[in-house]
Amino acid sequence: MLPGHLEPTLVDLLGKILGRSVSILKCSPVRGGCIHHATELKTGQGSFFLKYNRIEELANFQAEARGLRLLESAGALKVPQVLLVSDSGSHAFILMEFILPGPHSDDFWTTFGHSLANLHWNTSSRYGLDHDNFIGRLSQSNTWHNNWISFFIEERMGAQLKLAKQKGLTSSNLHTAFEALFKRLPNLIPDEPPSLLHGDLWSGNFLVGPKGEACIVDPAVYYGHREAELAFTRLFGGFEPQFYSSYMNAWPLKEGWEERVGLFNLYPLMVHLNLFGKGYLREIYDILSKFS
Ligand code: ADP
Repeated sequence: MLPGHLEPTLVDLLGKILGRSVSILKCSPVRGGCIHHATELKTGQGSFFLKYNRIEELANFQAEARGLRLLESAGALKVPQVLLVSDSGSHAFILMEFILPGPHSDDFWTTFGHSLANLHWNTSSRYGLDHDNFIGRLSQSNTWHNNWISFFIEERMGAQLKLAKQKGLTSSNLHTAFEALFKRLPNLIPDEPPSLLHGDLWSGNFLVGPKGEACIVDPAVYYGHREAELAFTRLFGGFEPQFYSSYMNAWPLKEGWEERVGLFNLYPLMVHLNLFGKGYLREIYDILSKFS
């Protein structure tokens, strides 16, 4: 069931986009998301994917739409087409193409790997983005930097550390360990040009599309170090080996990238600390003790 005022707004706006009247036949909840209400909207004109939440989340949906459109324009991977972002009464929503799940094609992981490398070929003169966005519910600053190290320290790890301090989640030991790491960082991370990244590529943020291809959703895009993206895929178990070998065939990463996975994942782990609490501290300390 949609909140009462959403349905007439959707019928009206969707009708304008499609140029014909639309009726909503059924709303079925879609599971798997972490933040918003997700629904398959079955209409007389086909299915659409709707995410909605309280009006305070409008900026989050606007940023998601910008991110999806940027990824779509890169043309490397299937991305759902965004139809509209709007609000109605006390709710905000994003409406997009519904991805009908297809069968996993035999070359799914291989194609996914080299398509991601193709996405990463999209570059920029600096690290960051022309707007800030969100990672989950947290705001993500994308202020431009000329080098990755300062971007990674200030806009990623440092920003999360500051937030964690405000939330009372840190100790002086944690700050000391990060300070030590920040000093060593230029010697630990090899240079890479800025790459267009999905930015939140874990296993919950891709689907198998209608042709058996990977379809990426729910991004936190920016131009960053591509090892950050590959590390993210390893955060909760990792993708299949063919994915990594195919990526490496298309555009090899510098030697030792697998040993640096933890280093890059300090950012999403700090995000998890801020979103879900101190349960993530142990892993953060383990990584810090390895690198600082
Ligand atoms: P949240 O922002 O709350 O984390 P997601 O964007 O991850 O929500 O979406 C929730 C779930 O809906 C995902 O796990 C995914 O399986 C599914 N999903 C996301 N986008 C689409 C889409 N365009 N079509 C069909 N299913 C989708």
